[in-house]
Amino acid sequence: MAEPRSPERYDEIRDAIRKLCAAFPDSYWRALDRERTYPEEFVAALTRDGWLAALIPEAYGGAGLDLGATAVILEEIQRSGGNGAACHAQMYIMGALLRHGSEAQKQRYLPDIASGALRLQAFGVTEPTSGTDTTALKTTARRDGDDYVINGQKIWTSRAEHSDLMLLLARTAERDQVAKRTDGLSLFLLDMREAGAGLTIRPIRTMMNHATTEVFFDNVRVPADQLIGEEGKGFRYVLSGMNAERILIGAECVGDAKWFIDRATAYARDRVVFGRPIGQNQGVQFPIAKAYARMRAAELMVHRAADLFESGADCGAEANMAKMLAAEASWEAAEASVQTHGGFGFAEEYDIERKFRETRLYQVAPISTNLILSYLAEHVLHMPRSY
Ligand SMILES: Cc1cc2nc3c(=O)[nH]c(=O)nc-3n(C[C@H](O)[C@H](O)[C@H](O)COP(=O)(O)OP(=O)(O)OC[C@H]3O[C@@H](n4cnc5c(N)ncnc54)[C@H](O)[C@@H]3O)c2cc1C
Repeated sequence: MAEPRSPERYDEIRDAIRKLCAAFPDSYWRALDRERTYPEEFVAALTRDGWLAALIPEAYGGAGLDLGATAVILEEIQRSGGNGAACHAQMYIMGALLRHGSEAQKQRYLPDIASGALRLQAFGVTEPTSGTDTTALKTTARRDGDDYVINGQKIWTSRAEHSDLMLLLARTAERDQVAKRTDGLSLFLLDMREAGAGLTIRPIRTMMNHATTEVFFDNVRVPADQLIGEEGKGFRYVLSGMNAERILIGAECVGDAKWFIDRATAYARDRVVFGRPIGQNQGVQFPIAKAYARMRAAELMVHRAADLFESGADCGAEANMAKMLAAEASWEAAEASVQTHGGFGFAEEYDIERKFRETRLYQVAPISTNLILSYLAEHVLHMPRSY
């Protein structure tokens, strides 16, 4: 597929990621999917070449790239047929540490995260009883001397088994004791290697290979100097990183959509039924062409949101729209690709069914489409808050 608007400044990054991903073909991802195992070698290669440190400033040993460049890294991973979900969080969750951590915390952790000596892959926000209503979360962090003591449960804490550190959001003041419901939550950088027996991680098997888990905290002690920023302000620190997260997930969905469209068009050209290529039939062409148009529109929104983010302007609406439109575009492309492949769309060796399962996630996580629509309705269109 031609790249009519590939921003020139990122072409070198695209090429480098394509080369790296070429060493991890479909068969690699297919085998991992079958066994539900973690792509250790792929993550090691990305780390070795410095790509997971894209957003860490050069002063702390990172690459100091901007968000647009980082989006290209993730887009190209997805476009190669791989899955950046194994490690994408490392790119955006350390934004909280960057923006709100103390200088001592940054010096202590960022160079080791950049070199790969330390992995910050886990983000513990969602809980089983509160779901999307983050300000209702129940996991507590109680101050005790020089430590906080954590009790509670998180769910869907992806990559916890493959991470040294977890960015953890926990309650330091009861909900009825704070002026605003967004107060009273605090953000910690929990070193899981030092958490002891009180930390239990249980894998959750899902319909795709995602290394997600539930995590139980039973009197887990975390030194007070691992609190990020001010006590009680954690929710807004998490929120401030969400625009970057949405833009990067949007870029991943654009990459998925391009992969599906490439595969569908190639198959439509080659597969001959009734004595002619199936792609000669408009009934086969149109769903793919429509998915292509939607992908291009979503891609523009991803670029727009990334540009706004980099300029320091408010990009909440664009980041949310980019993520929603791109997740819908990748799903539409997935659907068209399955339909184009007919029965072979269901065969493991074609990889369509694997990517189909994988790309469905992004209409639910990290934020579901309904909540994006509520955001637009309330904050952009000024209708009453619905929840
Ligand atoms: C594979 C996977 C990986 C994940 N990784 C992480 C992770 O690493 N860290 C982490 O913290 N979380 C993670 N999540 C959690 C994810 O962010 C949540 O699943 C998502 O935010 C939705 O929350 P929920 O599942 O509790 O759904 P719920 O909040 O129970 O919502 C269920 C449905 O109801 C809808 N709904 C709820 N309230 C409203 C409303 N007011 N108006 C309209 N619709 C509404 C939602 O849109 C959704 O469709 C992951 C989830 C999955 C499945």
